[in-house]
Amino acid sequence: MTRWQEILELQNSKNPPRLSEEEAVILYDEADFNALRQVALDRRRMINAPDEVTYLIDRNINYGNSCTINCQFCSFYRPPGSKGVYLQSNEQISARVRELEDIEGSRILMQGGVDPELQIEWYEELLRYLHETHPTIDLDCFSPIEIEGIADVCGLSTLAVLERLQSAGMHGLPGGGAEMLVDDLEAMGPVRISEVETAQKEILSIARRLSDAGEIMLGGGGGGDEFL
Ligand code: SF4
Repeated sequence: MTRWQEILELQNSKNPPRLSEEEAVILYDEADFNALRQVALDRRRMINAPDEVTYLIDRNINYGNSCTINCQFCSFYRPPGSKGVYLQSNEQISARVRELEDIEGSRILMQGGVDPELQIEWYEELLRYLHETHPTIDLDCFSPIEIEGIADVCGLSTLAVLERLQSAGMHGLPGGGAEMLVDDLEAMGPVRISEVETAQKEILSIARRLSDAGEIMLGGGGGGDEFL
């Protein structure tokens, strides 16, 4: 029996021990996906009501698409001032959040481009408006590159930007492809320039000092060591 099979067998027992970090890495890197999935399902049924599954309903909202960054993979953005640039009003964005509330959603992920015209007050006003109008909706907003863009446009530090946005009602900062904070794992962030990636990681590190929650995007590469 391989090590990952031993770990899974133990996890499938009546009183399984807590997984160690080393065991979790082995499962992540080596276990057969279907075997791992089956044990996870069995464990969930042991712990929770077997026929109940919970999940979160959220909505992605792109408030605007004017951007100066030019990521190679991005067909969403438009250069500032060009045809097709849009910026939604607070009311338009709120209407989209209302549609989320109508289906009992609980979180938005809101991102746009790096817009050189927008001052931090615009973002603060939007966050306050959404927070007051939709108090039960979590606001996960912007990305490290947007935070850096706001800091550049407004002449502020990224810490000051994050603190002001958090005070205005922002609950979380999505990773934007740089969630892993692992140097040898290439970020999927803008233009793939190392300095930009480093800056993104620094911003995420600062954001994590302001909050005790974290998110990881799957599918961006990395193994058990990086994830854990
Ligand atoms: S920063 Fe965002 S909006 Fe701008 S080009 Fe990159 S992915 Fe697109």
